[in-house]
Amino acid sequence: MIIKYRTPPKKLAAYEALLRRLPEQHPEWGRIMEGLESVRAGFGGEVHFDGIMDHFSPAYAHVVLRDLALPGPYWCQADTLVITRSCIFLLEVKNMQGKLYFKSNPAALHQVKSDGTLKIHDCPVIQVRTTMLKIERFMRNAGILLPVIPLIVVAYPSQVVEQPPADMRLLAAREVNYHLSKMDLGKALISEADMLTLGRLLVSAHRDYDPSPVIRTFKIHPDDVTVGVCCSNCGRFSMEYAARRWKCGSCHAYSTDAHYQAIDDWFMLLKTDISTRECQQFLGVKRADVAKRMLKSFDLAESGSKKYRRYAKKH
Ligand SMILES: [Zn+2]
Repeated sequence: MIIKYRTPPKKLAAYEALLRRLPEQHPEWGRIMEGLESVRAGFGGEVHFDGIMDHFSPAYAHVVLRDLALPGPYWCQADTLVITRSCIFLLEVKNMQGKLYFKSNPAALHQVKSDGTLKIHDCPVIQVRTTMLKIERFMRNAGILLPVIPLIVVAYPSQVVEQPPADMRLLAAREVNYHLSKMDLGKALISEADMLTLGRLLVSAHRDYDPSPVIRTFKIHPDDVTVGVCCSNCGRFSMEYAARRWKCGSCHAYSTDAHYQAIDDWFMLLKTDISTRECQQFLGVKRADVAKRMLKSFDLAESGSKKYRRYAKKH
């Protein structure tokens, strides 16, 4: 039974918004693009794996959590957890194209791309073992203990593992179902009710990782970010507000709600809150009362009074 589904990482929308609002000549453009491609590939690999695991139906009782992120004091993220009455399978899904070398002493993952370039990543073995320790800590605090079995899943056959890790099982996505279904789990350590309770406790502790405001991740000055409202028809920041609607100065398309995306962009990119004045300047609307009305149309948390009022997204 799946008790938590995967949603697109917030980083994906934030990086896309950042690229929309930065000139291509910006010195950080390449780094952001590389980051976006990596997030996209990772998420794509996880969704592909989910499709395979939709058919996971072993004889033993279990619950599945897809994408679990625990806030402090744990601070960890797990791609997929399978909780049974005897153990937890902690699956780390990797989607990195090219040739992969799992190095030890010190641990790292070397990725040689098809054009021959080498990229060095944190070692997934260390990553998944660190997550394992944190899940164990969570269980100790919850008073329900199970051994955690970490596994690394290679999402696509086109990923060539030239050098597997010496001390951890790697599985191709398509063999996970069979491998886990046929595994002898041994004696049940907890009841089915406790298994469900543990799953639900983890789901309620989950918090989506939020990278905003994302300009802090890169060397980007707030003034580098293009202001204005983007036209969904032509992609230019040439929307102007008049008579309760937006009109594009380039392609003449109309919109009544183009400011929603712009205000979302502000929160993802620049600050976690906004004042009426900042909204007015960012959207390029002439009247403060119009900017205020637009902010009020969002379900935002308000703080401060009168001219010091600020609006933030609710969590
Ligand atoms: Zn347009």
